[in-house]
Amino acid sequence: MRIDLMTLFPEMCETVLNESIIGRARRAGKMELVCTNIRDYSDNKHHKVDDTPYGGGMGMVMTAEPIFRCFQSLYNIEKEAKPHLIYLSPKGKTFTQQRAMELSKMERVVLLCGHYEGIDERVIEEIVDEELSIGDFVLTGGELPALVVVDAVCRMLPGVLSDDICFEEESHFSGLLEYPQYTKPAVWHEREVPPVLLSGNHAEIAKWRHQQAVEITKQRRPDLLKNENKE
Ligand code: SAM
Repeated sequence: MRIDLMTLFPEMCETVLNESIIGRARRAGKMELVCTNIRDYSDNKHHKVDDTPYGGGMGMVMTAEPIFRCFQSLYNIEKEAKPHLIYLSPKGKTFTQQRAMELSKMERVVLLCGHYEGIDERVIEEIVDEELSIGDFVLTGGELPALVVVDAVCRMLPGVLSDDICFEEESHFSGLLEYPQYTKPAVWHEREVPPVLLSGNHAEIAKWRHQQAVEITKQRRPDLLKNENKE
């Protein structure tokens, strides 16, 4: 899979994408991650990429043309299909584990990071396929949301995690929040690990974990259980 990030801050994205599990998987060629600077596609002699909003108001708006040209530079228009372009936006549909799984099956995805007050609506109409939000709050730019999407998608690609079963038992994958996790020592600050986890009885452990997952989901996110019952 290849994921492109269109951004005004490629160094910020590279720093994150070169670290930890994603950085290792990237170096091992499990996926291709490419950051492209939208500013390089400005025809303005000062590489300006924003302007004041029509109709007045605070802040600046990213202009359409550098974004359009940057996107066109990412694929061969005559020979290749247009890649799926996602604009990270607080107005988008909320990003979920389900959407991360669907995106991980695609060969190519391009993520567009906005900044300032956002981007000119006309370029969204012309090239964007989907808008995704990472939650009901507003950040200064789309870079952190894009990195969230890259992380959630890439960790589901084959060979990125040491064991693919890792994510199948995690919160949201099965529609439940995950059971509590414990590691050594068996007693810490007089708090004991639940005895069943030390029993070696895998069937009992699986049963306990499922019960815990249902209980935690009931307490913290009853809406998830309702969704599960609908399907
Ligand atoms: N004026 C816009 C509005 O009210 O909807 C907010 C613009 S925000 C300050 C700048 C950029 O950050 C957006 O273009 C978008 O790319 C990104 N952004 C901010 N919050 C986000 C969120 N919750 N999810 C995804 N992207 C977000």
